[in-house]
Amino acid sequence: MEQNKDLNQYDIPFAKRIYVNKSNSSLLKKLLIFSPFLFLLFSIFALRLVRNVEIGPLINLNFKAERNQDHRILGHLPYNEIHKEKLVLIEPNIEVHIDMRDSLLNMREEAKNEGVYLVFLSGYRSINLQNDIFYSLKSIRNQEAAERARVSAPPGYSEHSTGFAIDIGDATQRKTDFEVEFENTDAFRWLKKNAAKFHFKLSFNKNNKYIDYEPWHWRYEGSIEALKVFEISNR
Ligand SMILES: [Zn+2]
Repeated sequence: MEQNKDLNQYDIPFAKRIYVNKSNSSLLKKLLIFSPFLFLLFSIFALRLVRNVEIGPLINLNFKAERNQDHRILGHLPYNEIHKEKLVLIEPNIEVHIDMRDSLLNMREEAKNEGVYLVFLSGYRSINLQNDIFYSLKSIRNQEAAERARVSAPPGYSEHSTGFAIDIGDATQRKTDFEVEFENTDAFRWLKKNAAKFHFKLSFNKNNKYIDYEPWHWRYEGSIEALKVFEISNR
């Protein structure tokens, strides 16, 4: 009793409590909990906004440059010359990339078994040879570069320099060699039906706006190296 009396002598103040409106306080709590996230979100948004403003026009410019300049000349894409050690002779005067030799020979064999006789007209051509072809034919035929480029690639711009291109004729109709009339031969009909099985594809079809239709000119896309070489062309 004595002790209680003593205690009552002290004036212990109650903690002062302020009751905040219940719904307001829960909103405040939520805001407090989420404020770091909100701040983070806001920062990211602000950063992106700033970056887009700075980089946006640059990206647009680059994109336009890429679209307008895939480095074509008169409609032809540039191609590097194949390394000599990758070239193989498949018959006199016809060299091709080693990757496509088997496929090409198998294709000719299968056609033969079906009574169709393919003849190889031109395989690998060096940039020097392409140089001679382009400039000499241009002057012989009295053609301007753009006219000549419709039927022959400028040096450094021929698929033939890669070793992955082959010009094919019909052995029974040699008059159609390098002529659009080749498309009326058995050889061409057979190729259209079967070439894809051997990973060959017509390079210049009728829809090409720069280069004339070449039913005799096929390219090989059956190896990673070949696919890389023709990546831009296939885009
Ligand atoms: Zn060709």
